[in-house]
Amino acid sequence: MRLAGVVPEVVTCYPAMATEVFFQGCDRGCKDCHNPSLLPFDGGEEWGIEQVVNAIDDWSGVISLTGGDPLRQGADCKALALRLRECYPGKQLWLFTGEVPERLPLWVYRVFDVIKTGPYIYYLATGGFPASSNQQLLQRGVHY
Ligand code: SF4
Repeated sequence: MRLAGVVPEVVTCYPAMATEVFFQGCDRGCKDCHNPSLLPFDGGEEWGIEQVVNAIDDWSGVISLTGGDPLRQGADCKALALRLRECYPGKQLWLFTGEVPERLPLWVYRVFDVIKTGPYIYYLATGGFPASSNQQLLQRGVHY
C-alpha cells in the first residue's frame, strides 16, 4: 500500500495517545484540503502490512487510519485494518474518510470502532473537530 508515514501523535480528538497511519492519495477534491501533500497517489512510499504492524507504538491506545483517504486503497485498507484488529485487540481502531455514511462498505462498520465520515466543505468549517459541520463521527455501539 502507498503511505505517507506512520506517526505517533497526541491529538485532542482522540481519547488516548494515538498512532496515525497516513495513507497517500485522495481524489475527492475538497477545496482547502487539510493535507494537500497527501493527495497525489504516486507520493509517499510503498509499505507492507507487517511493516505497519511493527511501526505501531505499544503505548498508543488508538490506531488511526487517515490520509489522504484510506478507502481510496480499499483492499489494502481492509487487509491492514483486519490485521491490526488481530494484533492489537485492546486498541481502538479509527478511520478518517471523505466517504459519506450511506456509501461506506459494510466491512468498515464491522472493523472500525470510530469512523469520521464525509468530505471537508470549506463553507461549513467549524474551526474544531470534525472540521466541517457536514462530517459525522460515528461510534460503534452508539451509531451502529
Ligand atoms: S477527503 Fe480529506 S484528504 Fe481528501 S480532498 Fe477532502 S479533505 Fe483532502
